[in-house]
Amino acid sequence: MKKNRKTIFLDRDGVINKDPGGWTEHSYVTHWEYFKFLPNSIEAIKKLNDAGYDIALISNQGGISKGYYSEDKLREINKKMMAELEKKGAKIKKAYYCLHQDSDNCDCKKPKTGLFEKAEKELNIKAQGNFFIGDGKMDVEAAEKMGLKSILVLSGKSDLAGVRDWELKPDYIFDNLSEAVNFILKQKEQK
Ligand SMILES: [Mg+2]
Repeated sequence: MKKNRKTIFLDRDGVINKDPGGWTEHSYVTHWEYFKFLPNSIEAIKKLNDAGYDIALISNQGGISKGYYSEDKLREINKKMMAELEKKGAKIKKAYYCLHQDSDNCDCKKPKTGLFEKAEKELNIKAQGNFFIGDGKMDVEAAEKMGLKSILVLSGKSDLAGVRDWELKPDYIFDNLSEAVNFILKQKEQK
């Protein structure tokens, strides 16, 4: 067992794949055809893996509770995503999905932290001090609660003008996952 591997937490939509807002059925990734990898996102994940990082994916998929697509469909999409990553030598260790909408009062829909805590237990890791990369306000809020350093990427649903109005600001902002990863790896070198 390699003990030194650190885990980086990643959001999915708007970070790895094109945010589905506004151009897909119900603005969710309800079918694989709506899952479009963002430029260089696979390569960025591979870079992290190669530098000794594991990846845990934490994603809200409330469209399931809303009845727009099924859990089976999500499982199928996840499997295909993992397979595409693997083809290029990249790996997400485990993907955690919240299937609820607000009215379900779950404890896992970001900015709630249930999925992070589950990942900590299952993967036997500590989130605190590591990074969470997401494209939304609730990603930044969840990171703050978990003691994770937040990186907001502008490749999804947020833009700089919007961030100015957020009470809680991200620790870092980059255009996309690839740039965020370059930053993380540069920091690591300097240690
Ligand atoms: Mg997102």
